[in-house]
Amino acid sequence: MYNLSDVTYIDAHCHLYEYSTDYIGELVKDTLIFAVSDDLDSSNKTINISRKFNNVFPGVGIHPWVIGHDISFREALGAIDYFREHIDKIKMLGEIGLDSYFRRDTMDKQVIIFKELVKIAAENNLLVNVHALGTWRMVLEELYRNDVPIAILHWYSGPINMIKDIESLGYYITINPSVDFQRKHKEVLRKSPLSIILTESDGPYEYRGRKLGPSLIPWLIHIISSEKGIESVELIKVLKENVARIFRRLGVKYVL
Ligand SMILES: [Zn+2]
Repeated sequence: MYNLSDVTYIDAHCHLYEYSTDYIGELVKDTLIFAVSDDLDSSNKTINISRKFNNVFPGVGIHPWVIGHDISFREALGAIDYFREHIDKIKMLGEIGLDSYFRRDTMDKQVIIFKELVKIAAENNLLVNVHALGTWRMVLEELYRNDVPIAILHWYSGPINMIKDIESLGYYITINPSVDFQRKHKEVLRKSPLSIILTESDGPYEYRGRKLGPSLIPWLIHIISSEKGIESVELIKVLKENVARIFRRLGVKYVL
């Protein structure tokens, strides 16, 4: 059971397992965290964290960057088998996706793994937390074709004309603290309705010299509220309603 009145902030995409236990304890006091994983090992860590702390919504996944780099293609397939065996404990697959920008060399392997994971999400009514750098259209079409019930397109910086498709499919995008200096991302924020937006940190990733993390979310709220002309308290309410809609769709118990 998730008590949304217990928290102020939402971090809809964070690699929480990379932080120390003490620090996680601090973070989850005021933030509900959608905790993504990168491979089998981190997936297990994330599940364990969610058992220890409230306000952690865990995801298991295989990050497109690790396939054929940190783990072999065979290991990625093995992780998928493991997820299938433990499917009753899983509500979110993430971080999963395709990246033709940083990992063009492994695209063929990424596609096979991603298609398998998408199938699992569709068959089991799971949320997918996706990375789609350079592949936005391809990823959205794959989700749509397979009837994936609900998706978060993390750090969305894809085509502006896709925003209406994302909205009509009932999917969401996340806005990252880099929105203050990443021009394309700021345009996405301007053109997207609040009803499809969630906040995220992608912590502890470092982007253009800025160490990202959940502690930046209050500041991000400030940026979004001034950009959209909405009071912070109202914005926080809208973000929680968006999370509640996701939880309802997934059959996850919550109170608002
Ligand atoms: Zn990430």
